[in-house]
Amino acid sequence: MGRHTGPVCKLCRREGQKLFLKGQKCYTEKCPVERRAYPPGQHGPAQTRRRKASEYSVQLREKQRVKRMYGLQERQFRNLFSKAAQSGGVTGENLLVSLETRLDNVLFRLGFASSRSQARQLARHRHVEVNGGVVDIPSYQVRAGDDIAVRVPSRNLAAVESSLGARTRPRLAEWLTLDEKNRVARVVRPPTRQDIPGDIQEQLIVELYSK
Ligand code: SF4
Repeated sequence: MGRHTGPVCKLCRREGQKLFLKGQKCYTEKCPVERRAYPPGQHGPAQTRRRKASEYSVQLREKQRVKRMYGLQERQFRNLFSKAAQSGGVTGENLLVSLETRLDNVLFRLGFASSRSQARQLARHRHVEVNGGVVDIPSYQVRAGDDIAVRVPSRNLAAVESSLGARTRPRLAEWLTLDEKNRVARVVRPPTRQDIPGDIQEQLIVELYSK
């Protein structure tokens, strides 16, 4: 399945919760999840009256929710899952750590962007350096010890400034440090399961893909 190019609010409505896909606008605009609390589409209202969800449906919805939260396509998500399953340890945790250490997610966590899609744009437009070299691949996996910075000519970009100055900016993750003035950050250690917010039930995703 290709990239989602339609209204992102539909994705939140489909999952029945705010995924904050539009960054700061999610706090200032009237959120469709609150105004229309049923799935999108002609049959959306009828779906709220359905019987108890099946086990498969619960697993599928959790996978879709996490995939949409991080802004991945199915193939990218599936590939990450395959790597997580092959790398030993707990597959679900490996998957979440891989998602969390994507460059676009790290830029979002640092507050350089107010959403992951904005963070992807920041990387793609070559505004970001890792260890002194430009990295324009949003899926780049950062590691402990990596230095991440907004490039000097881009430090005062309006998007970066407004994101860093936003009242709604989340608290800095404990596995990252940030020199906000110079727009320089460091990955001090890999994230652990406890560092990853979002009430994710990764076991459901593992069960779904293990069928
Ligand atoms: Fe989701 Fe934000 Fe749209 Fe609300 S405003 S539905 S949180 S993207």
